[in-house]
Amino acid sequence: MSGNKQRVQAISELAATRPPVVPPGLEDAEKLFGSDVFGYTAMEKYLPKDVYKALKQTIEKGLALDPKVADVVASAMKEWAMAKGATHYAHIFQPLTGATAEKHDSFLGPDNKGGAIAEFAGKLLIQGEPDASSFPSGGIRQTSEARGYTAWDVTSFAYVLGGTTLCIPTAFVSWTGEALDNKTPLLRSMQALNTQAQRILKLFGHEKTAPVVSFAGPEQEYFLIDKRFYLQRQDLLLAGRTLFGAEPAKGQEFEDQYFGVIPERVLAFMQECEKELFKLGVPVKTRHNEVAPSQFEVAPVFESSNVATDHQHLIMITLKRVAERCGFVCLLHEKPFAGVNGSGKHVNFSFGNSTQGNLLDPGDTPHENAQFLVFCSAIIRAVHKHGGLLRSSIAYAANDHRLGANEAPPAIISVFLGEQLTDVFEQIKAGGAKSSKMKGTLEIGVDVLPKLPKDPGDRNRTSPFAFCGNRFEFRAAGSSQSISGPVTAINAAVTEALDFLATKLEASVASGKTLNASIQTLLTEVAKESLGVVFSGNGYTPEWHAEAEKRGLPNYKTSVDALPVLEKPEVIALFEKYQILSPRELHARYEVCLEQYVKTVLVEARLVVKMVKGQILPAALRYQKELAGTLPAGGKLSEQLTGLVATLDKGLGTLESALAHESSAVYDECKHLKDKVLPTMASIRESADALEGLVADDMWPLPTYQEMLFIR
Ligand code: ADP
Ligand code: MG
Repeated sequence: MSGNKQRVQAISELAATRPPVVPPGLEDAEKLFGSDVFGYTAMEKYLPKDVYKALKQTIEKGLALDPKVADVVASAMKEWAMAKGATHYAHIFQPLTGATAEKHDSFLGPDNKGGAIAEFAGKLLIQGEPDASSFPSGGIRQTSEARGYTAWDVTSFAYVLGGTTLCIPTAFVSWTGEALDNKTPLLRSMQALNTQAQRILKLFGHEKTAPVVSFAGPEQEYFLIDKRFYLQRQDLLLAGRTLFGAEPAKGQEFEDQYFGVIPERVLAFMQECEKELFKLGVPVKTRHNEVAPSQFEVAPVFESSNVATDHQHLIMITLKRVAERCGFVCLLHEKPFAGVNGSGKHVNFSFGNSTQGNLLDPGDTPHENAQFLVFCSAIIRAVHKHGGLLRSSIAYAANDHRLGANEAPPAIISVFLGEQLTDVFEQIKAGGAKSSKMKGTLEIGVDVLPKLPKDPGDRNRTSPFAFCGNRFEFRAAGSSQSISGPVTAINAAVTEALDFLATKLEASVASGKTLNASIQTLLTEVAKESLGVVFSGNGYTPEWHAEAEKRGLPNYKTSVDALPVLEKPEVIALFEKYQILSPRELHARYEVCLEQYVKTVLVEARLVVKMVKGQILPAALRYQKELAGTLPAGGKLSEQLTGLVATLDKGLGTLESALAHESSAVYDECKHLKDKVLPTMASIRESADALEGLVADDMWPLPTYQEMLFIR
């Protein structure tokens, strides 16, 4: 069957298909929630009291786990999981592919009597030993040095997935103890942040408080398209984005999609996802239509960044799985369709603990305001010092298509504080005690500082790092990426700033100055140095780019520009000082990022060649032939057609010779792909998309944007 007939059939099938029955409502949501999780309720039921207590302490206080309890926990976990139908267990880890990995092992083993017995020993729970050589390691592991270990992360609950497998969240390290995953540095960065935050809390008289953890609330955007169209698009299948496709007559210009009525079939899909995620204890809360046609969002309630990261992976996996079940495909790519908005994953970030609450909450009392201002200054300083690092934490080929376009923040990482907080910090910069636009006199000291309003200003959609009343929203993260990289980078940068502030304040207080006076002097100093990173205007304008340059803020336009930041001495020192990543581990990550960039662009470029040769040119030539017998030669249509076919053919030649180029170093290859290959792909696309507008619709081999984005 030719491509066009498949398209027609898919459309008629769709027209005849009823949407799936809406799954039963979630009346039982409370019971359902966490029912497949080995959380406190299950632990309490299945574990002896003392073991339960020990485990809870480990989880909540971050204490080391007594290995003796592991056997008991493992056996209880197995019993619980088997009662849910599980036959296998798997250590789930997060290799540097950005996705999760799992290897399933059966609980069953021979009983030496010709039968089998279900077993799960403590050592199997605590440690796994997957082959580490087949995952990206950036040179840390060679093929011959295969040994790697997975280590149980007690702080993230185990769960049963799909009624078949007990999943145990783990960290993944090499035989040498070096991190090969995204969880290990995240956990290390959380520990470092806690150490420094405690020093500040101590200065404010809060001693021995509960561990300070960083929180993350990731908002996930995604596209849903019908599977029948997806299967006819090689580009979506292999690259996750369309490499061709003319803009439809209607796009998102009516602005009628955002928060619009959710189509019934999509709502059924969302409910099914929610049900699955509730069972896994993932607190998904918000769902809505996004800006582009067929684009949607799901957001969970924020959690500790480690658990939020694990849950974020489960959200992505569930979206994909359930979509298939409903006859859709869920596209998590940052820019699946040109001409309409791409997808991001805003990471809402804060930190706090069970005794002090959220440390980025301005609070109601002046005293707490002083504490808040110290923590908030740490964020400002962190982003000012390490904007380049934050930029590099979201640098990969797919995100380049979205960043800086008029839909996502620019590559310049600035901070938005809102009108009132900006005013407060401007006052601080000017020396502190002055009357202000706000009530009364302003001082960073205790007595006269005005209460900060709960909602300190408007929103700014163009800012990459925006204060939202009690948290910062890092808006540059991309929809397909794990949030662990960006969160680790934020944690690291904030840790360093907190260390700086704590060290200065401790010394000042020790020299006899009051805490208030010390804070006042220090925050003025910090504001003078770092307020240049604060920007409240429209980040999309060229004026801001010029202004940012004047202020010395880096503007790494592409991933290839941004990634070398990971090789900068101040970044290496940052990760090394707080024991988040050793220089070798960090360098390995840099290498992996470069390799991933090369692989991504090469797959796309090969697809362009294949699709032009195998689908687009043949369709154009067939149509040309058909016209030849009917239209007078030299007419406008045949002239355009001939011209475009020639341009396309020429572009193909340019692309093929660009692909034949060999670079000696991987970074040079990245640059070559960015400067030579991607622009050639774009110009080929231009001709191909123009052809789509000329060639008879029944001859066009690819499902169109109109079909994919508007039929569901
Ligand atoms: P928006 O209006 O920005 O789209 P959403 O409701 O979609 O907001 O998402 C906001 C996200 O921020 C949610 O995941 C929410 O749980 C999270 N969030 C709220 N408070 C905090 C906080 N203190 N720290 C981290 N994340 C938070
Ligand atoms: Mg949202």
